[in-house]
Amino acid sequence: MGDLLVKYFIGLDVGGTNIRGGAVSAEGKILYKSKMATNVSRGRQEVADNILALTHSIVSYIKTPPSAIGIGVAGLIRGEEGIIAESPNFPDWIEYDLKTPLEKALKLKVVVENDANAAAIGEGWLGAGAGEKNFCLLTLGTGIGGGVFLGGKIWRGVDGMAGELGHINIHPEGRRCGCGNRGCLEQYASAQGIIKSYQGRRPVKGEFSAKEIFNLAAKGNGEAIDILRGVGSSLGIAITDLVNILNVRLFIIGGGVAGAWDYFIEPLKGEIAERAYKVTGDNVRINKAILGDDAGMMGAARLAMGN
Ligand SMILES: [Zn+2]
Repeated sequence: MGDLLVKYFIGLDVGGTNIRGGAVSAEGKILYKSKMATNVSRGRQEVADNILALTHSIVSYIKTPPSAIGIGVAGLIRGEEGIIAESPNFPDWIEYDLKTPLEKALKLKVVVENDANAAAIGEGWLGAGAGEKNFCLLTLGTGIGGGVFLGGKIWRGVDGMAGELGHINIHPEGRRCGCGNRGCLEQYASAQGIIKSYQGRRPVKGEFSAKEIFNLAAKGNGEAIDILRGVGSSLGIAITDLVNILNVRLFIIGGGVAGAWDYFIEPLKGEIAERAYKVTGDNVRINKAILGDDAGMMGAARLAMGN
């Protein structure tokens, strides 16, 4: 780097644990990337300061300012204004304007987007959805993030709340969900959901992670395998609903739980075969996300570029 003429965009993915940032060229090449702790517990000013510090460190590495900055963050984002109405990761971000102070401090255009939408834009640009005009992304992490990409654009909905695919109902009388509903997909097919399914069968003491359930499955533990197959069934039910509503053919699945792919893919496809109209169900493709932890950052950078 160090070339004074380098034109690039910064993409930032602000998660509950880390802020990931990258300098991305207009062609989608990552020129540099870095991350730092979010430090949510120290309040929103600290998080905003960390976003600024990470941005400065990227700029000082590249040695020339970016053309614009895109930020992906969990929560309900009011479109153009970039106001964060509320966020599950940041309890004190209510009607919070992250964008204006950053634009003033950096003298650059800043675009704010929901993190799952940013990930879908990233996968649609250079990942598993490259060249596709219509697809849904499901990111199976601690919770479930969703993005609906239609006609080559992310579908945000009237209030910016579209694509909450983790809250598709799977069991009307099922587990309580933070959204107010019960039996949402997220309660069964996220890392938290997998842990709840395991605890429902066998009480566990202390810390227990979804990874430990994956390890048990890998050792042939029938209960663990059954739970991961259940993830597939739940996903298949939700995806069938999406196929019926949207008639989309491509579904991209990412996030840490996608590591259990070999266990859940067969029951997932089985549910679609059993439940969907044949003509639409037969055309469904389920692909693994390929950008991994970079998806949100890449999508945020792509958004910063504009059209
Ligand atoms: Zn829910």
